[in-house]
Amino acid sequence: MSRGQSDPKPRRFPLQLDQVASARPAAPRAAAPAGPRDLLRPQAPLAQAEQDRRRLSAPGGLGLDSVRVRARMVERLKADGLSDGRVLGAFGTVPRHLFVDTALVNQAYEDTSLPIGLGQTISKPSVVGAMLQLLCERPGLAADRQSPAPLGACLEIGTGCGYQAALLGLLARRVVSIERVRELHLKARHHLDAVRASLPPRFDVRLVFGDGMLGHAPGGPYDTIIAAAGGQAVPQPWLDQLAPGGRLVAPVDDGRPGQQVLTIIDRLPDGTLQTHRAGAVLFVPLKSGTT
Ligand code: SAH
Repeated sequence: MSRGQSDPKPRRFPLQLDQVASARPAAPRAAAPAGPRDLLRPQAPLAQAEQDRRRLSAPGGLGLDSVRVRARMVERLKADGLSDGRVLGAFGTVPRHLFVDTALVNQAYEDTSLPIGLGQTISKPSVVGAMLQLLCERPGLAADRQSPAPLGACLEIGTGCGYQAALLGLLARRVVSIERVRELHLKARHHLDAVRASLPPRFDVRLVFGDGMLGHAPGGPYDTIIAAAGGQAVPQPWLDQLAPGGRLVAPVDDGRPGQQVLTIIDRLPDGTLQTHRAGAVLFVPLKSGTT
């Protein structure tokens, strides 16, 4: 959601999340045809490529200006208090407009959450940035604050359109990202394939279709875990898969309807867990099972 007139600057990360954070669920939209059909239509990637080409070159579209528009978004994030150069660099690299529907391209670099289909939303950049910065400050990195891959081995729950997964891929050594909605999982795959060529060769993001409430034990343990959907509690498998020195950031229901608190859980080097609450947020619900 964009900032309103009544929301005074300056905003400082990470603690004023209660002022900035609202990845509000979008109104449910009509579902597109079932995902597996995409796999059986060889023309689909061509049609997608043509759509991407048109949206890049359309008059009034982003075209080559996307670099400039993206740089302006990074400047705004910086002015609002996001300070980690690696996180800002990732925002400057990933073309957010290629992860949203054509009709929304012109809003892609505003600080707003956007619908990605099937009733889900891509979170607004300031919220994503605040969460990424929190992950960069995980306790295990105390001795190596300048690490180029500060997120280490990273687990994302809720791939959605794949935008945040792409950012994570630039900040982590490797990423496992889980999505429970098959159609979104396939969409994210298309998006990441489209941008992979412009990302560094070490980019290692693995997309998994499944129930993220179970985590993904084969890829664990993880130095960082980030959830883009909020439930009543942090599922035990996430805690089990969090490595010593690791940090988990997730929205958790705070007991009142429609209210969540951004929760940070650190596993200290001695194995004990430490919990902090960073502020009010509103993400889509964490649901069990797959669809
Ligand atoms: N990070 C995403 C935001 C996605 S919104 C992006 O950049 O686009 C949250 C996502 O979490 C939705 O796609 C929703 O389907 C997914 N989700 C909810 N519960 C889940 C679960 N148990 N396992 C995996 N994904 C889940």
